[in-house]
Amino acid sequence: MAQQTQVTRVAQRWGPFLARFPTPAAMAREPAAEVVRWWSGLGYNRRALNLHRGATVIVEQHGGVLPDDLKGLLALPGVGPYTARAVLAFAFERDVGIVDTNTARVLARWAGERLGPAAVQNAADEAVPLGQAWMWNQAMLDLGATVCRRRVPRCGECPVTAGCAWHLAGRLDPDPAEGTTGVSVGQSSFSGSDRQGRGALVAALRLGEVALAEVAATMGWPEDPERAQRVAGTLIDDGLVRREGEGYALA
Ligand code: SF4
Repeated sequence: MAQQTQVTRVAQRWGPFLARFPTPAAMAREPAAEVVRWWSGLGYNRRALNLHRGATVIVEQHGGVLPDDLKGLLALPGVGPYTARAVLAFAFERDVGIVDTNTARVLARWAGERLGPAAVQNAADEAVPLGQAWMWNQAMLDLGATVCRRRVPRCGECPVTAGCAWHLAGRLDPDPAEGTTGVSVGQSSFSGSDRQGRGALVAALRLGEVALAEVAATMGWPEDPERAQRVAGTLIDDGLVRREGEGYALA
């Protein structure tokens, strides 16, 4: 929930969401549209859909219990290397390192070189002190977010300056974080984007069906019904939306 959605907004919704869907089984027995409705205001709706699909797989293949190994977690819909390792480290306290934009930036600068997919994951795993993955990963995430910042790293406040290759070399260009796997390059503008139109249609569908003739205006493109149909089609492809008579409904 907290990925790309403000934590203060997530905090308000977290309790009611868990009360509504307290277990994978409780979620799996509801239609996906119900989860999408409860996801309102929590970012990408596709995540709600994947959550529902994941809950269904957990019930059907794992007896309703979340798998506690990397292979089992990676096989769940919508779960990639970051989420799988975050669950292993924070829920099961396994000694794995998490690679996200913040930790990958620290690891690359520490190593003093751009890191590819295998190298950055190995560096993250090898750095974890035995038995302390929970605390270590929290610290790494915070270090990257608050000290080893993207534009202006605060090396004077950093606890690892003595071993940081990039710092010791004088922070020369290019910054090794640039191009390192996992380090985000920033998102394109939301305003006017397809994402904005998708979100507007799903928001309207949470309240009820939307007639075909109203789709373009609902998505914010009253002058461009072709674009509206194309983008609405991507929602159908994702399994979020279905055609219902002369309009659309949540799947
Ligand atoms: S010393 Fe500077 S560049 Fe190196 S990890 Fe710390 S903040 Fe980042």
